Amino acid sequence: MTHHSLNPTETTSPKIAVIGGGLTGLFTATLLERAFSQGKDKTLIPNITIFEKSRSVGRLATRYRTDSQTGKNWQWAFGAQFFTAKTASFQHFIAPWLESGLLQPWCAQVVNLTPANDSIESSDLQSKEQWNITQARYISTPKMTSWGRELADELQHTTIKFKTRVAPLAQYDSSLAEKVDKKTELFDDTGASLGYFDWVICTAPNGQAAELMADSNFAAQSKITEPQMQACYTLMLGWRDIAALPKTLSNLAAQQWDVAYLNNSILDRIFIEHQKPAHDDLLPSVTIHASNHWSEQHVDDDIEIVQAQLLQAAQQALNWNEESAPSQIDSHRWRYAATVVNDNNDKDASGILVDETYQWIVSGDWCTQGNIESCYQMAQQTIEAIYNLRKVI
Ligand SMILES: Cc1cc2nc3c(=O)[nH]c(=O)nc-3n(C[C@H](O)[C@H](O)[C@H](O)COP(=O)(O)OP(=O)(O)OC[C@H]3O[C@@H](n4cnc5c(N)ncnc54)[C@H](O)[C@@H]3O)c2cc1C
Repeated sequence: MTHHSLNPTETTSPKIAVIGGGLTGLFTATLLERAFSQGKDKTLIPNITIFEKSRSVGRLATRYRTDSQTGKNWQWAFGAQFFTAKTASFQHFIAPWLESGLLQPWCAQVVNLTPANDSIESSDLQSKEQWNITQARYISTPKMTSWGRELADELQHTTIKFKTRVAPLAQYDSSLAEKVDKKTELFDDTGASLGYFDWVICTAPNGQAAELMADSNFAAQSKITEPQMQACYTLMLGWRDIAALPKTLSNLAAQQWDVAYLNNSILDRIFIEHQKPAHDDLLPSVTIHASNHWSEQHVDDDIEIVQAQLLQAAQQALNWNEESAPSQIDSHRWRYAATVVNDNNDKDASGILVDETYQWIVSGDWCTQGNIESCYQMAQQTIEAIYNLRKVI
């Protein structure tokens, strides 16, 4: 692992703005704080502000509902379901939270599921693998959002401003093009100033990043839209109790499973939430992701029509009848969910986009493989880019 401490020749603390409070933003702030605290000049602490337009942690998302009769919850991780840690440095990074139990390996039984052709037959389930034997997958407990909250709480030199949407950089700053010093003034979407920053790190999905950097003279503007991001619809289902589950989901199924990969369906994967580690207090809850291809084709459709189509496909896969139908139904549209990773993606060339003149960095999971581990890698690259530039100052 390359481990840099920031030991610049400057004497004032740099002011750093991070646009986006998803995992890329939170990892970046965490690694920046660590790098500065390990620098020779311990008095030089960074002054970091994260601006997040929503109220929570980006594409890590948890929704729940409480049953008024039992007080128990249904709960769905309707963004990322789990993550991998393939590199030694990410494994090292997550170790403290694995130790505290906030992160846990998910040793899911995975099956291939082929939906039945008619309503009499049941779906075909074939065992595929058990995770952790092939490669560990991790979840955050008690909710997928818990890790983001924890990361945010542990930050010491970072202010997080939720419900603050940063305006495109050029929108309220007419002098941007002639800018000579390295400070950037950011504004919110009402035109109110958010302050001056030495560094601006944008971690929004690339469609949003392209808008934020438009007309700003950002050196790598055309590269922002090169990676393709696709949509994903999520269906969330809940049942009153275990006894109400359709056979395909219950322990009466021919094959016990936690995760299903679907064949011949507009659905891609089914995840059984109440069987995840530290989730056993939940009422039966199931999260289903539609395929990215189908979601992208239907991204502008009416959500109610989409939900009806997803529900029909889910019924075909899980074979419920009137008595075993779900009592809770909800859905969500992610416009920017997954990055298309094709063979042309030159792994070495992919990475963050840096404008050294303005000291702007465009980062995010989409800069490489589009998953949670990518967020960490991009945060590492950001710290290295800042270190390298500051050293030469
Ligand atoms: C349905 C789904 C399933 C997934 N499954 C997996 C999985 O199984 N494993 C895995 O590893 N990954 C998975 N992912 C991907 C994973 O969620 C992402 O890689 C990761 O969350 C990306 O984090 P990020 O910080 O780069 O981006 P985001 O989480 O998108 O964060 C960017 C943030 O920027 C904010 N923002 C944007 N514009 C502005 C603005 N102008 N001002 C202020 N804030 C702004 C947004 O609100 C957002 O919170 C999944 C994603 C989805 C949607």
